Amino acid sequence: MTAAEDHTPNAVVDVAVVGAGPTGLLLAGDLAAAGLSVTLIERRPRTAPNLTRAFAVHARTLELLDARGVADQLVSTGRRIDRLRPFGGMALSLRRLRSRYPFVLITPQYETEKVLERRALSTGAVIRYDCEVTGLHQDDDSVTLDITTPTGPVRQTARHVVGTDGVRSTVRRALGLPFPGQAVVRSMVLADVRLTEPPEDFLAVNGRDDAFALIVPFGDGWYRAIAWHRDGRAADTDPVDLEELRTITRAALGTDHGMHDPRWMSRFHSDERQVPHYRVGRVFLAGDAAHVHSPAGGMGMNTGLQDAANLSWKLAAVLGGHSPDPEALLDSYHRERHPVGRLVLRASGALVRTAMVGDPARRAARALGAALLARFHPAQERALGLVSGIGIGYPPPPGTHRPTTAGRRAPDLPLAGGLRLYEALRTGGFVLVTPPGRPTPPGSPLAHHHWPTGRRTASVLVRPDGYVAWSAERADDTATASAVASWLLPRGKKE
Ligand SMILES: Cc1cc2nc3c(=O)[nH]c(=O)nc-3n(C[C@H](O)[C@H](O)[C@H](O)COP(=O)(O)OP(=O)(O)OC[C@H]3O[C@@H](n4cnc5c(N)ncnc54)[C@H](O)[C@@H]3O)c2cc1C
Repeated sequence: MTAAEDHTPNAVVDVAVVGAGPTGLLLAGDLAAAGLSVTLIERRPRTAPNLTRAFAVHARTLELLDARGVADQLVSTGRRIDRLRPFGGMALSLRRLRSRYPFVLITPQYETEKVLERRALSTGAVIRYDCEVTGLHQDDDSVTLDITTPTGPVRQTARHVVGTDGVRSTVRRALGLPFPGQAVVRSMVLADVRLTEPPEDFLAVNGRDDAFALIVPFGDGWYRAIAWHRDGRAADTDPVDLEELRTITRAALGTDHGMHDPRWMSRFHSDERQVPHYRVGRVFLAGDAAHVHSPAGGMGMNTGLQDAANLSWKLAAVLGGHSPDPEALLDSYHRERHPVGRLVLRASGALVRTAMVGDPARRAARALGAALLARFHPAQERALGLVSGIGIGYPPPPGTHRPTTAGRRAPDLPLAGGLRLYEALRTGGFVLVTPPGRPTPPGSPLAHHHWPTGRRTASVLVRPDGYVAWSAERADDTATASAVASWLLPRGKKE
């Protein structure tokens, strides 16, 4: 019997993750790679895949996957798009993104999940399919989950729990947290279809007048069509008719590309909501369980994966006994990721509202705004930085002297020996980079590398999620050791 079929709970595990969507799979893989015992609980049977909604994988997500050694696997499954076309014929080039991945990768969400599931299993995470979490109780030392399995109810106790169980999160409800916000897009129609006249470009996407449509190939002859009309008022449960999809698509794209033979059709609505607290005691929320917004900009899955990357090393440091201030480190997950979630909510809301402006005066103002944005490079860079995730950083830790690069994304710099920084991050721990000849701070659980000879005079401590923890020009050995000690307890001095 495989772990996936065995519904018997483990004894107490370090972390139980609820929900094996992209967020939960990345998180469970990271925690298991750090040597923790991890159980990922998923209510779907193993044979029922998650519904593929996302197609866009942005540059920062690919960098995080590079730091786990799986970016190339995912890139090989999809197509690279080097322009974003947000609305009204406007195009933003991604080529100037200062990243190893200056493009959006278009690949179905199931490909991302396959790569992450393989990694989670190979690092030792246990995935229990067909198990639904129905309740949660926590005390000072642990959290216990109530789980319904095909063989009856069971309980699983863990030192920490992370709810990555999507927009209708049971974990969020069990914590009694509200999910305030509003509906933004009603009656969005999704279908998998065949086309008699496939688009010349890889993707077909446009918003015109009151209609929006997107057609993306799965790569096997099937296409996912997504269409929305401003006047749509149907409930999610109302049946979808292919003719409705074709009419909206024609209004938006000028053609329906000869859509026929739908194998699946569904109706969705999209909300803009965010939970007020990402942490309650020993329980955390990440991904759609913590924030949802419209699909505009393709940022939902990407933001969830980045939540997971931010939380996993913090839990690993605390449970591994390496953090000098465990409570503050765990609290920093909410402090860093909640503002990012709010920003993404606002950005995707602004995109959808701008794409769908109704009256001619507003459309003229939009055209003017688009023309200005096309000429004004700093504004373009800010917009691209946000959507791609490359421009997202965190406030420096309290008490840091400014100016500082602490909290910023660390670019993928070359290191001595022909290695890149993101390859060095594959150990899953902190990376210290110093000029050649500098010693490793004694006992520190980190990877120490040097810059190629004569290149740089700075010392930089990079967090496992690829953000700068500390940096200083010409720092001496004592200053470097003290900066490292503020993040990591030396081996043998566990709290
Ligand atoms: C039309 C559309 C297009 C989109 N396009 C993009 C895009 O291009 N790029 C992008 O980044 N995002 C996109 N998104 C958003 C993206 O699909 C989601 O943000 C992403 O799936 C969230 O991942 P998650 O792991 O947080 O949650 P989910 O993918 O929802 O996974 C949650 C998992 O938890 C399981 N679960 C739920 N309850 C329980 C329970 N009680 N017990 C056990 N298991 C449970 C579910 O079965 C599921 O497997 C799009 C969304 C829509 C609607």
